[in-house]
Amino acid sequence: MHRPFWISVLSASLALFFFYPSPVRDREFPEYRVVIDPGHGGETRFPVYMHGDRFDTVTGGYLELYREGASGPGVREHLLMYAISEKVVSLLKDASPEGKYGKFHDLIAGYTDKPSSRVAIRTIMSRPASIGPGDRSADPNSEYRLYDFTDKNGTVRKGRISIINEHRPHLVVSLHCASSGPQDYKGMSAVIAPSYNFLYNGLLYLRGKKRKSSFFKGPLAENWFCESEDRSNFSWFLNDSSLYFLCHPIDEDHVQRFDRYKGYRHNMVQWKYGDRAGWEIPAGHNIKGSHYSRELADFRPEGPFWERERSRFEKYRRDGGPEGYGGDNAYAGNEIIRFIQHSLAKNGAGTGNRKPGKPYVSVWAVPVLVNAISAYIELGYLKRREDRNIMVQRQDEIAEGVAVGIYSLLAGIRLDQGDDPWMPRGKRIDLDRYRDKSEKSYFDSVNE
Ligand SMILES: [Zn+2]
Repeated sequence: MHRPFWISVLSASLALFFFYPSPVRDREFPEYRVVIDPGHGGETRFPVYMHGDRFDTVTGGYLELYREGASGPGVREHLLMYAISEKVVSLLKDASPEGKYGKFHDLIAGYTDKPSSRVAIRTIMSRPASIGPGDRSADPNSEYRLYDFTDKNGTVRKGRISIINEHRPHLVVSLHCASSGPQDYKGMSAVIAPSYNFLYNGLLYLRGKKRKSSFFKGPLAENWFCESEDRSNFSWFLNDSSLYFLCHPIDEDHVQRFDRYKGYRHNMVQWKYGDRAGWEIPAGHNIKGSHYSRELADFRPEGPFWERERSRFEKYRRDGGPEGYGGDNAYAGNEIIRFIQHSLAKNGAGTGNRKPGKPYVSVWAVPVLVNAISAYIELGYLKRREDRNIMVQRQDEIAEGVAVGIYSLLAGIRLDQGDDPWMPRGKRIDLDRYRDKSEKSYFDSVNE
């Protein structure tokens, strides 16, 4: 029997259409997990021993006040960030494995007429909606703490970082804003942590093993986060280096402040890099020559967390990369900012200043304590009217920029760059290199 040629072609293409594995299933990372992490949510309440954060099992108490986040005239960071995050999650629902991909494709079509590869994205929020005003519960911060804590019944409860790690995400997008900022900080900025090697130079300097501070240069050094103006950024860098390795800050004369113990952060979250059960005993004695020593001279960065810190995966996340500094984390943060600015401009809400602001560099918790790529963004300053208006009135445009930016980081969206330097670059992150010898992904292995 002879079939007309076109029927053969049609059935052959139908067969291909139905039996050829779809790009989604064919990919090495067929489905991506993304956590949207709106900052804060609880409230700063006294006393610290009941309501704080950074629960330390060595001393059995909180080491810090709970940080409820920034506020400005009539606005609060935790509410704004949650509202924007909800919109991001709702947009990304269409890109989920069960979603209406056509709808999401229409959104991307507003950014490019070139084809984009298809990926599926599962999106999770790191926290519930913020507590309402006048909340009278005994522990209003229980759902919002960053770190694990032991509640009054003696039960260990997960903080936001452990919840993030539990989802084994490829990407975490943390959204924040500040009340006010230094004059030279304009617009939206990425918040990043440097790699082990960069911080280790600080330890060597404090030990007198490095006499000059000439190693301290480049974008990370220039943008080191200064807690206050009375100390240089180099002095704040040394302070953070001391905190990172020795769990104690130093003063402006580089004297260690043993009265201001800040705890072993890598043991305040649930993941596979924590120390073995019972670690509190050697830690409580600051055993010399170990990674529990608080002395500059004999501290030894050993154990699973410090091995992780020196791994190539952490270099990919925090070193070099497409921006030339800050690794894939800096690229992810800046790229989402470029997408937000592009979305605002496209929708008639442009700020005139689309360039990503200077990054904030320090040993921040989320960028260090997750295996995922961390895009941590300060969206602006609540006490600056223009910034505030955008965060209040242009949440849809911001959310669209974040959602399309996330998609682009995972799939790549080729945009018409022209000669515009602040257009998103549209390059996907090379996630395939985050695999060990046995092909297991770094993101999957955060808990096992
Ligand atoms: Zn914040």
